[in-house]
Amino acid sequence: MADGLPATLLDAARVDVPRIASIEAIPIGYPEPNDDNRTRHVCLVKLAAEDGQVGWGEAVTYWPEASLAVVELIAAFSDLVVGRSPLESEGIWRSLKDHTWWYGGGGIASIAISGVDLAVWDLKGKALGLRVLDLLGGPVKERLPAIASGHAAKASIEELAEEAAEWVSSGLHGFKIGWGKKGQARLGYEKARDVEYMRACREAIGPDKTIMVDLGVAITWSAAEAVDRTLALEEYDMYWIEEPLGHWNPEGYKTLREKTTTRIAYGEKEFHVEGIQRVLDTGTCDVLGFDPGRAEGLTGFKKAAERVEAAGGEANAHAWSTAIVSAASLAMSWATPVCKQFEIKPIRDVAQHELVANPVTHEGGWMPQPQGPGLGIEILEDVVDRFRLGR
Ligand SMILES: [Mg+2]
Repeated sequence: MADGLPATLLDAARVDVPRIASIEAIPIGYPEPNDDNRTRHVCLVKLAAEDGQVGWGEAVTYWPEASLAVVELIAAFSDLVVGRSPLESEGIWRSLKDHTWWYGGGGIASIAISGVDLAVWDLKGKALGLRVLDLLGGPVKERLPAIASGHAAKASIEELAEEAAEWVSSGLHGFKIGWGKKGQARLGYEKARDVEYMRACREAIGPDKTIMVDLGVAITWSAAEAVDRTLALEEYDMYWIEEPLGHWNPEGYKTLREKTTTRIAYGEKEFHVEGIQRVLDTGTCDVLGFDPGRAEGLTGFKKAAERVEAAGGEANAHAWSTAIVSAASLAMSWATPVCKQFEIKPIRDVAQHELVANPVTHEGGWMPQPQGPGLGIEILEDVVDRFRLGR
């Protein structure tokens, strides 16, 4: 070790901080008004250092059984995490990647690694008294516009357009809308209704705000349908269309790209840098989605952002669970040139506004830089206990 450096130099360079003393996985379920009040599941990760300092992470499990699996995985990760310095975020991440190789990598393993990695970064920042944003290299932009990211649930187009106008009235720069979600909106199924929705929304919000459409999980168009639908929606200046052909259809996306001019967004269902690279290599993804609570944390996000930059693309951080992932996504969105805007859930919810003393939110349509050591959020443990499952 030490590559021949004199011991005195090594000692001078070494920073001692309290080591990680314990790791705990805490599954929670909370009502999500932005998703028609369904119960959303995540598994929080709490690291405590020898001095009592605490770091928080989040594994975006979505389903209760995935949270239970993550609880088991994180209990098993203990030997690879406890006793180490929180400054070793890269080393811990690599140990977990090596360990989980046996069960395939990706999926539940990547989700569990994400929760631990975010907590390590938070604890590292707190141990050093520095923001995670600064540990990532500091901000590389002067401002970061915020948009609303909601689901269409209301029944009538008039109500939906009114709702969109209300969302952007706070100064938000536009909105992304999920189609094919729970509720009565029935968007994404009938071309004429979808076009009418876009027309009404554009009229309601004016010409200067952006509109992004996210087809999500329930709807997957054929390539021919996607071309036809996208061309019809382009008249209303759609900023991007997200996952119209699902998470993997390189030939279809190639066709869509050739025949339309709207930016194409996908990639958020990938679990690691290799998956991100696979999407980038198709040359069909303009805006790559990334959730640091699913795709191997901030360490994974930092690596992915560099790949996206090298490919000349744009990225979009997912921030649609608790304030922990939002804080991580916000730090990375400031630290990389590839993230051009930031998504905010438009309806006030427990996970964003009650779980922390200082919610991650916009100011007149602009995201402030995160402040305070670590991820810059203060978790309220009585709220964690209120939504804790399994005991
Ligand atoms: Mg999406």
